[in-house]
Amino acid sequence: MTPAEHINTERLWSNLMELAEIGAIEGGGVNRQALTPEEFAARDLCITWAEAYGLSVAADEAGNLFFCLEGSEPELPAVMTGSHLDTQPTGGKFDGAYGVVAGLEAARAIINSNISHKRNIEIVAWMNEEGSRFAPGMMGSEAYVGVKPLADIKAVKDKLGVSVEEELLKLQDHLPTIKRVSLGREVYCFIEAHIEQGPILESEDIPIGAVTGIQGVRRMRVKIMGDEAHAGTTPYHLRKDAIEEASRIIEKLYNVFSKIKDIRFTVGMLNIEPNVPSVVSSEVEFSIDLRHPDTAILIECEGRVRKLVDQTVSQCSSEVRCIAEADTINFNEKVIDVIETESKKLDLPCRRIFSGAGHDARQMSYFCPSGMIFVPSCNGVSHNVSEFTNQRDIFSGAQVLCATLLEFANSENQL
Ligand SMILES: [Zn+2]
Repeated sequence: MTPAEHINTERLWSNLMELAEIGAIEGGGVNRQALTPEEFAARDLCITWAEAYGLSVAADEAGNLFFCLEGSEPELPAVMTGSHLDTQPTGGKFDGAYGVVAGLEAARAIINSNISHKRNIEIVAWMNEEGSRFAPGMMGSEAYVGVKPLADIKAVKDKLGVSVEEELLKLQDHLPTIKRVSLGREVYCFIEAHIEQGPILESEDIPIGAVTGIQGVRRMRVKIMGDEAHAGTTPYHLRKDAIEEASRIIEKLYNVFSKIKDIRFTVGMLNIEPNVPSVVSSEVEFSIDLRHPDTAILIECEGRVRKLVDQTVSQCSSEVRCIAEADTINFNEKVIDVIETESKKLDLPCRRIFSGAGHDARQMSYFCPSGMIFVPSCNGVSHNVSEFTNQRDIFSGAQVLCATLLEFANSENQL
């Protein structure tokens, strides 16, 4: 039997379902935001599995968690896989969790097959991929590869004023004896298994996507500053009404961007001050999430946001900030090839696919040869309690992951 044939579909599925009970919410979803007690509990469960499988466990100072299956030449750079255990507040059972659980199952299958491998195979659970509690996301992978200083990440606070640093200290207290490893250890290649979060694979009835790249994104914050005033006594010409002006800006932005091909423009968050029914609002802050596969168009669109805000405010003042920018990236051609080849060997249809959503594999692609394996999402739904992938596809993706990891774990070539 090949290692991929040792993937146990029942264990894989029941592990995913057990993990989904931690932070379970109504409708079958999961609320397990980064560095919360629920996310700590999810880490504990994965550690229990990993130790039972005979993997070693370690953590770095950014709160990334690693499980290692040692190879015969452990001094070589490791093959790494994994994803994230945190979810959106109204997230599903599969986003992120799948990549970690499938990685653990792949390691277990390789152990059971008794087939040797040279390189260590590491499974990682990155800290705060989603960015819903601490914005922006992908903090763990950014810290690991060094694109952002850890001090900047630690200083980020959630809505209640709790910092990443405080929660990382709690995490240390929670797992006081865990082995410590450093950030930025050399990695041979990184392969992340993930649900597609879009409709393409399902609509074409193809179980495996070999991901070619990730589209670029700009995350912005727009603040409109006016003056608080009495809703009954203040005439319009004396008002500086932040809600009135912000709503006009948002309407214009949707109008402009809905007409540009392939752009994804979203205002997903509004904070209003003082948010009281009988008071003209003094301040509105809203988010913009802007994505496009072509970086040049993305840069142009960012400029259009700034210009439109500037031209639309009248009595109020405005401030536009870009809090996260990531250009479109392409994954390593050799990694894409191996995913396609291993799918073929397993008799699983596979197509190349471009990712509309961001993933930790983006950060890793700046650091080492990287790639991703997608499995279908039912109705293309994600970041939603009804997110679902059927058991057959969950199994197929883990098989391809297992075979791909083993191929690279025995490879000596420069990628
Ligand atoms: Zn994810």
